[in-house]
Parts: sequence; C-alpha cells; structure tokens
Amino acid sequence: MSQTTIFDELESQVRSYCRNWPVVLATAEGSTVTTEDGREYLDFFAGAGVMNYGHNHPELTEPLIDYLRSGAIVHSLDMHTVAKREFLTSFRDYVLKPRGLDYKVMFPGPTGTNSVESALKLARKVTGRQHILSFTNAFHGMTLGALSVTGNSMKRQGAGLPLTNTSKIPYDNYFSGAVEDFLWLERVLEDSGSGVDLPAAIIVETVQGEGGLNAARPEWLRALADLCKAHEILLIVDDVQAGVGRTGTYFSFEEAGITPDIVCLSKALSGYGLPMALTLVRPDLDQWEAGEHNGTFRGHNPAFVTGAAALKRFWADDTFEKQVQERAAELRDGLQKIADGYENAVVKGRGMLTGIEFPDKEAAGKIAAAAFRRGLLVETSGPDSEVLKTMPPLTITSEEVRRGLGIIADAAADVLG
Ligand code: PMP
Repeated sequence: MSQTTIFDELESQVRSYCRNWPVVLATAEGSTVTTEDGREYLDFFAGAGVMNYGHNHPELTEPLIDYLRSGAIVHSLDMHTVAKREFLTSFRDYVLKPRGLDYKVMFPGPTGTNSVESALKLARKVTGRQHILSFTNAFHGMTLGALSVTGNSMKRQGAGLPLTNTSKIPYDNYFSGAVEDFLWLERVLEDSGSGVDLPAAIIVETVQGEGGLNAARPEWLRALADLCKAHEILLIVDDVQAGVGRTGTYFSFEEAGITPDIVCLSKALSGYGLPMALTLVRPDLDQWEAGEHNGTFRGHNPAFVTGAAALKRFWADDTFEKQVQERAAELRDGLQKIADGYENAVVKGRGMLTGIEFPDKEAAGKIAAAAFRRGLLVETSGPDSEVLKTMPPLTITSEEVRRGLGIIADAAADVLG
C-alpha cells in the first residue's frame, strides 16, 4: 500500500483532490497515470484540463531535456529570451494569424487566476469604471478579485468581503431557456434613472468548467458580445479551462464567431503541466504603465519551450482539431448512451469537456468513487458536485475513450443499479 502518512501529518487541511483519490502518484504517460505501487489509472481528468496533449508527450519531453542540458536560462522574469521569442513567434503564426486575431500578449503570472486578475484590473483602468459583471455558477479563480466574480458561494464564504462593485447575472439557460437575450440588462443600462452603473467589463466562460458544464449557446454569446459593443463594456472571455483545444477549436469562442476584448488563458498552454498563463489584450487597450502588473514568475522558459513545441506539433494545421472533434463526438455519444439508461440524466458541456448530470445530486460523486475503484480518474462539477465531468487528454485514443466509458457505465450500474 502507498504511504500517505506524511501528507496527513504535515499537509494543510485545505488539500482536496487527494481525499477522493488517496494514492501516491509516481509516473504518467499519455492518458495513463500510475501509482508508486504500480496501479494504473486511465485519466479522464487530465490534471484539471492541464494535460491536453497527454502526460509526458515525447515530442515535448525531448526539446525540454535538450533545453535544460544545453545550459539555457531557466528563470528570467519578463526579460527577452530566445525561448520566449520562439513561443511568441509560434503563438502568432499558429494561433493568432490563422484566426485573423490581433492581440497583444501579456504574461500576467503563472496561473489562470493571475490572468483573470490582470484582465479585471486592466478593464477597470482602461474604462475608468469599477463595476464588473460575471455569471451565476462562474469560476474564475481563488484570489480575492477572481473570487469576487466567481459564483460558487462555498468557495467564497471563508474569504470575507469580495471586491465591491461586482454582480452576478444569469448565465445562459439559467431560467430554463426563458431568458433568450439580454433585453432586461440593456433596458436597465439604458435607463439612466435605474441606478445601475455601466460596468467596466463582463467576464464569461463559454462552458462553465467548474460550475456544472453549462455550455452557452453561440447565439447567446453573440448577443452578449453585441450588448458589450453597444455599451462599450469590455468582454472578457475566461478560456483558462475551455481554451487550448478543449472544446474542439483552439479558442472556445470560435464557434460563436465572437472576438473578445480580453482573453484569459492558462492550464494547457505549456502542454506539459508547467505553469504558464497569458492575457490577450486588444491592442488599443494595452495601456499598462511598465511594471503596473508585476510578478516574479511571469516567464518560465521551460514552459515556453514545451509550449512552442506543442504549438508546432498540434496547431500548425487543422489535423489535430479534426481529431479532437472526432474523439469528442465519440465521448459524447457514449455518455449519451449511458445517460439514456437513467431517467432524467442529462448530457452537458461541449467538446472534451462533457459530462452527465443526474437528478440525484449524490450520484455523480458516488459514480466517480466507483470509477476510481475500477481504475478511472474522473471528477465532478457543479455547485453540488452533481455533474460527472469527463475531461480526458485531447490526444486520447478511441480505444481509451471506449474503455473509460465502459468503466463509467459499470460504475453507474454499481451505484444506480
Ligand atoms: N478560470 C477558470 C475558467 C478555471 O477553470 C480556473 C481553474 N479551474 C481558473 C480560472 C483559475 O486557474 P488557476 O487554478 O490556474 O489559478
């Protein structure tokens, strides 16, 4: 058995994933992780959406090892480096240019939360307004600014006062489809006597990764973008979880055909599990004074090396996108078949960020636990953890998708009969 004693003895109570998965991980390859005592788990979790290209992809490992062996610089704050130049060039050539996007690239710090903080700060600075709108069930991170626009009250309750001037408004389908557009918001914003301040920005996830896999309809996103444009409110898309290919295109907002003013990216950017975040900023909004958003870890050269290698390997043409879309369809079909076996079970999400909501709010957690016993890492999502959430590496094979679905079907039968 794995030795977990030191973790219980020394590690803070705040630790969480390890409570559901009380094993000690040692190695990983592709879509499989292995414990120190040799037990293998198929990975439908992908490090919370970080390992989009699978664990230890050899075409990323090699350039990383070569880089480290060559004596190249590892830490350099935000100074120019050869590795950063490679990354930025690849990002321009494989991501921005082919999509006709024009953004300045900002390195806000190592995590998704840092990107969200920078976006909120920049929106306030540029517009001179304070109010930020976000959505019911949103998740944007755990620092006070990002937490203030997060919908999950359990995550917020211990933190004390949020930023003032933030409000949550209903996400798509919050009222079972009764809210078809933003007429109500438009009405109060245009009514100068309503007392509703014009917001600096609205921040949105196209799929709520933590908030229950609610996926906004493209027409709803377009209505949101139109409203923002009409009122000069900045539209921030938080693509920390849904971006970097997760929904079947590099950015999750491509399907809706919208162009956000600011985009937050992190998680899968380095392709290797190395911390990295970007904030993409419409060029005329890039009004920072030098050093106004600072941080020691804003440029991690090993992450630039694997990030550039991943862009070249997976995004130089549309082969990978098509492959992801095929696998995502297989995953969704399989989940639908499982859901069809249970009354009122609903498939939710988009792309490789898809799951099943069961009417019994306890079911998803129990199924995830049963799946773990059967050799699959799969987590839950939603305010009551009521959605079984699948998020495998995008490089997963059809055989692995089938195997994982088989385990979920068996685990659901264990729990629900
Ligand atoms: N935004 C979204 C949409 C996320 O899913 C997350 C992480 N789950 C974050 C922001 C925060 O990212 P990080 O944990 O890297 O700070």
